[in-house]
Amino acid sequence: MISLHKVSKSYGSGTGGFKAVDRVSLTVRGGTIHGIIGPSGAGKSTLLRMMNLLEPPDEGGVVALGQDLTALPEAKLRIARRSIGMVFQQFHLLHNRTVSGNVAVPLELAGTGRTQRRERVLECLRFVGLEDKADQYPARLSGGQKQRVAIARALAHRPAVLLCDEPTSSLDPDTTSEILAVLRHINTTLGVTIVIVTHEMEVVKELCHEVSVMERGRLVDGFALPRRTPAE
Ligand code: ADP
Ligand code: ADP
Repeated sequence: MISLHKVSKSYGSGTGGFKAVDRVSLTVRGGTIHGIIGPSGAGKSTLLRMMNLLEPPDEGGVVALGQDLTALPEAKLRIARRSIGMVFQQFHLLHNRTVSGNVAVPLELAGTGRTQRRERVLECLRFVGLEDKADQYPARLSGGQKQRVAIARALAHRPAVLLCDEPTSSLDPDTTSEILAVLRHINTTLGVTIVIVTHEMEVVKELCHEVSVMERGRLVDGFALPRRTPAE
């Protein structure tokens, strides 16, 4: 589904240069929820952002959904990225747009027609249980609701993969459970493959089928969670 082949990424150059990710190879299997864990600064977020080339690797290859992303010209990369949604810790919603308006953004950027846009926005809001908030502005929403809007936006192009960067780290435990339920629902109902960066062991235990452990830019361990397989 997504394969990283010996990807590396450095920040800065010369003696001040710092290798955030160092020759990591990793395969995320289709249909799974794959966790990436490790201490702060280990390179987890950089690795995740390399999966859709939001962060282009200095070296190495990224194959996603059968395409070598590193070999694609910009226009084709933009289209390939529609199949890979992203969710962040800090929601990144536009505050001058309604909930519907936020979910519509990726569709507007892709030139999706008005009728289909409306249908899609509604479909995604319904999926995360927020259709009644369609016309509200994000400022009026709780943290969990904001994250659900961000998830709905990430689903707008009906992606095959969802990349989540610490999606519950700014939420309280109850809201975290609510968001994890939404993510599990997306995996089981829509069959979307999920990659999730987290430092919360609870998230891993609750959600993940497979886990990769990073330390100082390297992949140091990987394991499957015994009682959870994608088929269950
Ligand atoms: P993690 O997600 O595991 O906390 P990150 O991938 O965010 O780790 O960061 C790995 C290392 O790379 C950290 O030391 C961080 O400070 C550094 N880093 C990340 N992004 C940048 C950037 N844009 N510029 C410079 N250094 C960065
Ligand atoms: P904004 O004020 O944030 O621009 P709009 O009302 O113009 O919000 O709608 C933004 C987008 O959301 C449009 O692309 C529209 O197709 C879609 N949209 C608006 N209202 C709805 C709705 N009730 N259901 C589904 N989609 C909607």
